[in-house]
Amino acid sequence: MSMNKLFTGVSFLLIASVIACNPKKDSNDLENAVILYAAARIATCSVPGTTVSNASATLNTGTGCINGLTTSMDAALPDWIKNNFKCSVGQVSGSTYILRSQNIPNTKSFYFGSSSPMYEALPSGHKSAGNNQIQAQCLVYSIPSVPTVKTGAKTSTQAGYVSVGITTNGLAIFNNAAAPPDTLAAEVTTFDNFNGHPQNTGVYHHHALPKNLSDETNGDANLLGILLDGYAVYGEKCDNGTQNPGDDTVPNNLDSNHGHTTTTVHFTTATYHYHYTLDNTATIKTLIGGSFHGTPGTVSN
Ligand SMILES: [Zn+2]
Ligand SMILES: [Zn+2]
Repeated sequence: MSMNKLFTGVSFLLIASVIACNPKKDSNDLENAVILYAAARIATCSVPGTTVSNASATLNTGTGCINGLTTSMDAALPDWIKNNFKCSVGQVSGSTYILRSQNIPNTKSFYFGSSSPMYEALPSGHKSAGNNQIQAQCLVYSIPSVPTVKTGAKTSTQAGYVSVGITTNGLAIFNNAAAPPDTLAAEVTTFDNFNGHPQNTGVYHHHALPKNLSDETNGDANLLGILLDGYAVYGEKCDNGTQNPGDDTVPNNLDSNHGHTTTTVHFTTATYHYHYTLDNTATIKTLIGGSFHGTPGTVSN
């Protein structure tokens, strides 16, 4: 551990102690996740691969992931994960799926910094999220392999998680809220060309549709990721259990957490899953609502 990292960790702990009363989490302001970040910088990272520098990051066209990242999915994982997820390391441990990620996007972004080969300008009319830049993380997700519906009060997606899920290209999923006084609807103008942005400790994330995984204009039923409770997240449409995209439709029976129970091409028995949809709290379309449907696993950084 370098002294620099120690000082960084200590300084964030001090900041975190000041803002720990804030129950919400998001992107551009200091947030509860900072506490987890501080702990992570003092611990040893167990994500395989070479730690990526945002300033020199390059895309490996063979893997479709940034050079240095390890991308591998254990054969013991179910097909819907091992055939669709990359840019992270997936394993099975007992009744838990373990996914480890450096959380570096495989698409260009303003937030790599202007000297990076992966840099590109923001969309027209958008503005920078402060001085935030993408930084390699040490995200370890422990997700139940058999999701269970949470009875009684649901677990809030704002309960201090550093991330509430992982996309199929290994990136953090954030919930439907921004840290006050910001609103997510206002933060849309800080999204890069793929609807992502980093928060203050460099955790790049999506609240909204990862545009390289799904067609925002026309909608689709693509698999986008998995949330901490083990349920899958899809695009705006549902595939109705068939491979034919022609019968995909936008569901009209989603609950307040963006989910419903039906078959998909990945689940031949009716299974709960989430969709990208309009969120009443955020007032924009988001990947998840205010609560998990199931009992969430854990995530560390
Ligand atoms: Zn954000
Ligand atoms: Zn569906």
